[in-house]
Amino acid sequence: MLSQLSVSGKFSAMRKGIAVSPGVAIGKAFVIHEIFVNPDTKRLEDNEVTAELAKYETARDRADADLQALYRKVERQVGRDEASVFLVHRSILRDAAFTNKIRGWVVNDRMTASASLHRLLGEYTTLLTRTNDEYLKERLNDIRDVVVRLTAHMSEVIQPNQNVLDGPLIVVADELLPSQAVALGDVDVHGIITQSGSQTSHAAIIARSRGIPAVSGLRGILRLVKTGDTIVVDGQHGHVEINPNSEELAAFRKLEREFFDLKDQLAENRDLPANTVDGTELRLQANINSAADATAASAMGASGVGLYRTEYLYLTHPDVPDEEEQYKTYCEVIKECPNQHITIRTLDIGGDKTVPYLGHNHQEANPFMGWRSIRLSFEHPEFFNTQIRAVLRAASEFPDGTVRLMFPMVTTIEEMRRLRSFMKRAKKELGERGKVVRDMPIGMMLEVPAAAISIELMLDLVDFVSIGSNDLVQYLMAADRDNPKVSHLCQPLAPSVLRVLHSVIQACDKSGKPVTVCGEMAGQPKSFVLLLGMGLRRFSMSPAFIPSIKELAASITIDEAEQIVKSVMKLKTLSQIKKFMTRQIQQIAPQLAMLDTD
Ligand code: PEP
Ligand code: MG
Repeated sequence: MLSQLSVSGKFSAMRKGIAVSPGVAIGKAFVIHEIFVNPDTKRLEDNEVTAELAKYETARDRADADLQALYRKVERQVGRDEASVFLVHRSILRDAAFTNKIRGWVVNDRMTASASLHRLLGEYTTLLTRTNDEYLKERLNDIRDVVVRLTAHMSEVIQPNQNVLDGPLIVVADELLPSQAVALGDVDVHGIITQSGSQTSHAAIIARSRGIPAVSGLRGILRLVKTGDTIVVDGQHGHVEINPNSEELAAFRKLEREFFDLKDQLAENRDLPANTVDGTELRLQANINSAADATAASAMGASGVGLYRTEYLYLTHPDVPDEEEQYKTYCEVIKECPNQHITIRTLDIGGDKTVPYLGHNHQEANPFMGWRSIRLSFEHPEFFNTQIRAVLRAASEFPDGTVRLMFPMVTTIEEMRRLRSFMKRAKKELGERGKVVRDMPIGMMLEVPAAAISIELMLDLVDFVSIGSNDLVQYLMAADRDNPKVSHLCQPLAPSVLRVLHSVIQACDKSGKPVTVCGEMAGQPKSFVLLLGMGLRRFSMSPAFIPSIKELAASITIDEAEQIVKSVMKLKTLSQIKKFMTRQIQQIAPQLAMLDTD
């Protein structure tokens, strides 16, 4: 790490993190939730105190109104127990001691209300982390939620002040939450850097889906960067420069231009078929979260949508979306999606993605190994059924064969049977309402090693398989996909991972069940070539990767890809495989080297 004072007198530094989305971007830092790291130090003037108190009261009333509405809707649609978390939040918000402390610091210490909230959170954190009482420890999360809600109402955290920040922005965050990413949709974001996270965490996936250079796993970055600093993001090598000097800046500007030129050039491929040199036809589909992503997928030349992550609808919805809202959203997404061919995935909540009304009260030591995806859906049958009904209804508005439905995290045969009976029940319920819906292909996401090992036994129960390699890799390697400390292990090119993938692809081929890889590796040059050589013909990836993967496919024959797999299977370590594959990509498609992350 280099650090010095630049000519402008600003602190300058270079940091190394994990390269998660390729390309070079330069812009002004916009630090999200800066208050939690760099609290507001402004001291109020005497004549500002009353206005500051009024601002706090307004924020409190608005937060209270949110919570009341959330309670009512969640109680109606999910259940009273699940809704009770919002009552707890309301009681914290209205707690006299909580409010008096904030008022006291504003009036007596002339602190802003935001800084007072930060101080209060600090006090509670010190107090509650010392206790051995698990119940009290969990209340800390509730207090934090309330503070975040209040802060958001007071300072529109997500909206950068355009007077201060004109032009391209680099978002700096601990981890980018899905709701924040959506709110950033209208802002000119050129790069994303995060303190936690790694290749397959959600900030990385969001960045890639928009073709935005990103670096994650930058420990301590929030303490180093202030809103307004100049930031360079090198998403190919995982470097971040803070306030570079003018020579460095000029060099990076040249790289940034080359990156834009390459993207423009590749985008011209969008109408070409996805064929290898020997004419083998491939399906390059897109992973999407919304109708806007589906439009982007068409623009990038995707042949369909291989993964629609429906949880973003829940994560970004102010409360629980009901059947009608879901039905409408799914219809919109299907209408926008390329060639009207889409695979919808049911809710995958839990792990690193939580909504306050599902599983929020339930702190787990190992959330990724715990109550997530269909495990959670099974325990909320009404809620789960609502989603399946909405999908069935939406699919029936389009020609047969448009929609397939798949379930995340399937681990056992019993689960697959249960999922099939959920489908039957939803269809029957719709029939009772006079709505006739069609059957559709049902698939499993293969993300759990147990399912990979016993795939032959499960294939009878499914119409297709989609390999969720992001999760499969973390479970195979016992290395959390979001934890930068173990990102050296959570690697799709690890010899053991490649062996499992090969055997699953072969088992599906043998039984004639279509198989896709929809994890991030499908869109990365090195792993794409290996999957191709293993026999895979269907890939689903961030839309931004489709043009470069099309170009790569058009530069290689199946025979060459098979020979590469043979050579790689003889290599024993990840680093040997990475080096070998870097050389291969440089030979096959040197023009793409800039898009091949380290
Ligand atoms: C995966 O696990 O590979 C996957 C595509 O699902 P997600 O990244 O949403 O967990
Ligand atoms: Mg997954």
